[in-house]
Amino acid sequence: MEPAVVLRVSEVYPSTQGEGPNVGKTTVFVRFGGCNLRCPGWPCDTQHAIDPKYRNEWTKMSPESLEQDILTAAKQSGARNVTLTGGEPFLQPKEDLHWLTRELKAMDYSVDCFSNGTIAYPEWACDMINFIMDWKLPGSGENAANQIRLDNIERLDYGIQEQAVKFVIKDKLDFDVAKGLWKAYIEPKHGFETFYGRVWGVKLTDAELVAWIMAERLPWRLNRQEHNYIWPPNERGR
Ligand code: SF4
Repeated sequence: MEPAVVLRVSEVYPSTQGEGPNVGKTTVFVRFGGCNLRCPGWPCDTQHAIDPKYRNEWTKMSPESLEQDILTAAKQSGARNVTLTGGEPFLQPKEDLHWLTRELKAMDYSVDCFSNGTIAYPEWACDMINFIMDWKLPGSGENAANQIRLDNIERLDYGIQEQAVKFVIKDKLDFDVAKGLWKAYIEPKHGFETFYGRVWGVKLTDAELVAWIMAERLPWRLNRQEHNYIWPPNERGR
């Protein structure tokens, strides 16, 4: 199918990946505009990609012109990985995302996607994209038991890519809920890597969080959002 006309893009830039399985690798970030959630429990760090007041800053792009911008950024930086993020990338027309992903994979780029998991993933996406699913916890103010996310978890189990979930933890309640979800849905699925980190700027420290993880003997990986240690937190284009 031919790609449709419009993707809403907040920014495209090369940087180092600050979190998830490819932390430390150079990647091209494609930040799409728009999100179906608001995470009212703590401030979303990409207001410029979710708040409609920034909508006039989002560029409407065809998949072909977005591909050209990605390839230019990859050429400048040496990136061999592309990260789809937002906002929520899967709010964009899925046929456009499919076309773009196919093109990038055909040129041997790996494609990661940071997603909140609450939009149903098509089968092609589960087979072609490395998802890092941001599993919302009570501290975010969003629903931790979202049924579409649970359905996506089941779908990803049948994919051939490296899939991962990420828990962003605000307090002990969040940690306990994350542990329960992981034991119910993730632990039985071998190869599903789990990342954890704290909400940026809250009282909870990395040291406390690591102590909880070790006390429970959880095989999770600490996710520190390295970009926030390199550049000022929330700085755009980083
Ligand atoms: S799901 Fe992600 S992008 Fe959307 S509001 Fe929450 S933190 Fe922001």
